[in-house]
Amino acid sequence: MKKYDYIIIGSGLGGLGAAGILVKNGKKVLIIEKNNKPGGRCSSYQKDGFTIDYGTHIITRSEYGPIGEITSQLGVKNLLKFFHLHRMPSYILKENSAFGPFGIDINQKSTLSIPINDTNLNELEISKDNFQNIFGKMSKLVQNISIPKTRELDNVPFQTYMKELDLGAGVNQILYFLFMAGLCVMPHEGSAGEFLRTLLYVMSSSIKSVWMDHDGLSFGYPYGSCSAIPDVICKGIRNFGGEFLFNTTVNEIIIKDNRAVGVKTSKDEIIMGDKIISNVGPKETILQLCKNEITEKSYKEKIKKLKPSIRSLVLKIALDSPITNEPFQFLLTSEMEKTLEMTLKNKVSKIPIGIFIPATSIMDPSLAPKGKQLLLPGTVYAPYVDTGINIEKIKNNVLGCLELVFPHIQKHIKWVDIFSPETAMKLWNNVDGAINRIGQTIDQVGKNQLDFFTPIDELYLVGCGIGKNISGIGTEFALSSGMTLANQLLKK
Ligand SMILES: Cc1cc2nc3c(=O)[nH]c(=O)nc-3n(C[C@H](O)[C@H](O)[C@H](O)COP(=O)(O)OP(=O)(O)OC[C@H]3O[C@@H](n4cnc5c(N)ncnc54)[C@H](O)[C@@H]3O)c2cc1C
Repeated sequence: MKKYDYIIIGSGLGGLGAAGILVKNGKKVLIIEKNNKPGGRCSSYQKDGFTIDYGTHIITRSEYGPIGEITSQLGVKNLLKFFHLHRMPSYILKENSAFGPFGIDINQKSTLSIPINDTNLNELEISKDNFQNIFGKMSKLVQNISIPKTRELDNVPFQTYMKELDLGAGVNQILYFLFMAGLCVMPHEGSAGEFLRTLLYVMSSSIKSVWMDHDGLSFGYPYGSCSAIPDVICKGIRNFGGEFLFNTTVNEIIIKDNRAVGVKTSKDEIIMGDKIISNVGPKETILQLCKNEITEKSYKEKIKKLKPSIRSLVLKIALDSPITNEPFQFLLTSEMEKTLEMTLKNKVSKIPIGIFIPATSIMDPSLAPKGKQLLLPGTVYAPYVDTGINIEKIKNNVLGCLELVFPHIQKHIKWVDIFSPETAMKLWNNVDGAINRIGQTIDQVGKNQLDFFTPIDELYLVGCGIGKNISGIGTEFALSSGMTLANQLLKK
């Protein structure tokens, strides 16, 4: 029977990050994936000539972060190119009107901000000054802050931190939404320290992108869709002898004398390995795949209590002709605090906290048939529990908000696909249906983060939210988690 040095369960970016480092260092690695393609939440599907991302849309550090690191190590960096954003225009929505655009534009040389126009500003009851020099005001947030200093703020909720800073309405609107769209946790329990770390990472990689490479911000989108990221990493892994089994679900981790020794698959196969790395989530691994082999009650309780991130609803809208020229824009509510309160009570507001609108076919025209356009507007809509909220209602609210900025959208819609928590559960076996399996809340970041190591010898966990003192946004966190664990195991 063939035996591997490492068996990796799941080909999300966490699993691929670990596999990449291990094969590069001569280890014999098998990656087992339930679906027919790699990438998990960072992957795409085809429909009617459109290429559509399931989950991930925007990579905050593009080639300047962990993606650049792993593709370099595997010698495939030149196969993955990114479109870089220059602008992030935002609109504020109120009842039946949209105000804007305002926001960040690195082409506006003096202020780096898109100034809001005067029309109806009075109606918003916010002074114009709040919307000027957004970028300058945002940089105040990270002035005099270093990575070690951010750790002192790990236990401070983002909302509390922002109230103390009092940066003004325009900046607050953008930062609250960037916080929720980036870290995917609610501001009253998400960690200010974690957010500031990710902001420092993004700012330093954006400086490299703008000043060294004369391109846009480091916020980017991979040419060929988000699937291009795992596809290129897999090519590198194969070049170093890594093996893959697709369309195969691991049903059980085989444990002998408290040591993981192999896996049992949906095809009734038993595959043996010296070490098992699971990328399928801590709850799924420990409470399901390990059957009843883990006896340490306190560990199991800790895993059960892990808080996932918030869940999201993303519409995939195929249009018969273009309705916008902006690659990425935001719609924000004028009533942030009130909407947050409603969301926490599991009530659906007509205008959600915020909607991000990547137009991926503007960033890469090959993702839509000629003359057509693809919009992927997404919103965060419900915290944690299964609320039974009506998906159609949220879909119609999102479409209503889009109509305020694009009045003719309805007559150009060919079809709409919906990504909901149920999609996440079905596609990736995710028990919570959340954006990330572990939320970056005050009690789950920095030194309090879940460790790679488990009470079972030679069984390890990787993925977004796993690994002490690792930080970052979704995909980048997952990759860093896998790469860090692999490096630690190689040193052992
Ligand atoms: C709607 C949405 C939007 C997002 N937007 C962004 C964004 O813009 N930018 C960003 O950086 N991040 C974004 N994220 C988050 C990001 O996609 C994830 O954090 C990251 O991809 C998670 O990677 P992972 O390796 O932890 O897990 P996953 O991607 O969940 O990988 C786990 C893999 O394991 C497989 N699997 C599960 N069970 C089994 C089993 N029993 N046997 C075999 N295989 C199994 C799954 O099929 C999957 O491929 C978004 C996520 C969602 C859902």
